[in-house]
Amino acid sequence: MPVVIAAAGKPRRRVRFSSSQTQTSAAAREHAPIRSSRSNLATGNRQSPAPTPRDQTVLKQNQNQPQRDSMCEPQPHPGVPALFKEPPVLLDALTTETSELQNGTVNKCLSFLEGLHSSQPGPFNKFGVPSLRQDEHVGYLYDSLEEYPAGFAGMDASRPWMVYWALAGLSLLGEDVTRFRERVISTFVPMQNPTGGIGGGHGQLSHCASGYAAVLALAMVGGEEALKLIDRERMWRWLGKLKQPDGGIRVCEGGEEDVRGAYCAMVIISLLDLPLTLPPDAEARKYGLETFTSGLSDYLARCQTFEGGISGSPGSEAHGAYAFCALACLCIIGQPDETVSRCMDVPLLLSWLSARQYAPEGGFSGRTNKLVDGCYSHWVGSCWPLLQSTLDGVQSAADPRRAGSLYSREGLTRYILACCQSKHGGLRDKPGKHPDSYHTCYTLTGLSSVQYHHYHTTSSVSSKGASAFSWKYTPITTSETPSDQNVFDEKDRLTAFHPIYVIPHAAAENMRVWCEQNPFKI
Ligand SMILES: [Zn+2]
Repeated sequence: MPVVIAAAGKPRRRVRFSSSQTQTSAAAREHAPIRSSRSNLATGNRQSPAPTPRDQTVLKQNQNQPQRDSMCEPQPHPGVPALFKEPPVLLDALTTETSELQNGTVNKCLSFLEGLHSSQPGPFNKFGVPSLRQDEHVGYLYDSLEEYPAGFAGMDASRPWMVYWALAGLSLLGEDVTRFRERVISTFVPMQNPTGGIGGGHGQLSHCASGYAAVLALAMVGGEEALKLIDRERMWRWLGKLKQPDGGIRVCEGGEEDVRGAYCAMVIISLLDLPLTLPPDAEARKYGLETFTSGLSDYLARCQTFEGGISGSPGSEAHGAYAFCALACLCIIGQPDETVSRCMDVPLLLSWLSARQYAPEGGFSGRTNKLVDGCYSHWVGSCWPLLQSTLDGVQSAADPRRAGSLYSREGLTRYILACCQSKHGGLRDKPGKHPDSYHTCYTLTGLSSVQYHHYHTTSSVSSKGASAFSWKYTPITTSETPSDQNVFDEKDRLTAFHPIYVIPHAAAENMRVWCEQNPFKI
């Protein structure tokens, strides 16, 4: 296999594109009917049984490896509670394609949750959770910035995203991504269009999503050359063309109007300190709108569905990624306890978000009757700090109130570390799927979100008092959440990410401050 010299200066593997399915020692289980539950339905006992003498012997003899005795059935790690090693107690008697897929997914996940799958090399901690394979994930993400096979030509318009996913993942893992500054600048210069905005590649149409990914990547590598790359006046004028008479924002000229457009545009506007007033020639001005936020929160409110979740546009199906986009957008417009409370039925939203987390898998699904998927560790998982802050209100920067968790941090941690890690690096949707940089980035973002308490304050780094820059965080430690204990080791703690901008706090703050200090003339 030819060696590629990466920007880090080290010889690296080419990015791996495995073609074979993950082999499982419990493969038969995937196609077998779901196991009968051994849990005690009558008593509702879902607690982990006390370790038997045999369990304790196993623990003593082989703390870091699952039991592998061909003469005996392998035993789950003693630290795994019954909730995460038993199928659901209640099953719908009606069998459908959806229920079969769900049962198959549960069966696939169980051997991983129990720490029994042959692709899990360990080590496992006292909770029966595998360690984060940091070195492998770092290697995978560095490789993801190198060459791709010809079959990836269809990803050409996603190049800004691929840069963002890799740099964000590496930042989460504690890598210094400023070493990529020159490469990032030379990648994005030809993507900027003279009429404003950034496309997915040289000569491609400007799009809010590629502009979002590019701005975040530039913020992460930092430095004046990167921060001044974007022509902010032209970006502002281009964004003005996307504002719609009903308050929403299109993703590109002639493109869809949805919450992605709203979130991506407001991220770009707030990070680059663009004027909130619409450009004089913006079409939406003819309908009485004067700013980018005119009618925007009402548009987002109309995206909440009868289920309580949030859809991409009014009248569509609720979806985890759109929920995050809408909530984060509201948290840019104002403080969450004001904007989210005003625009959303919060109890109904909490109910829908709670229904996204499954047991025994522990991960999140994106929609009703869909399967768990690692990327929703971010899209759904990162809704929780925004909802928590909506309920808690403004906190003291130095002494925030400690609230309990609104979701099972333990469940999500178990799903990510047990089910989503690929043996050779990278994280994935679920067992049986291949890793990719998108799932690696967003699954790690979800793991980071589990590990910190995020809260908003009245203290903003912005001289203009922009509330999106008032967020603080503190690490959550085991002792704080006895009802929902941390099940990751401290060495597996990731970098805290800004709950709205999904990059390190300092990267977001530095970009905003630099832009405020370098205003452009209209
Ligand atoms: Zn996914």
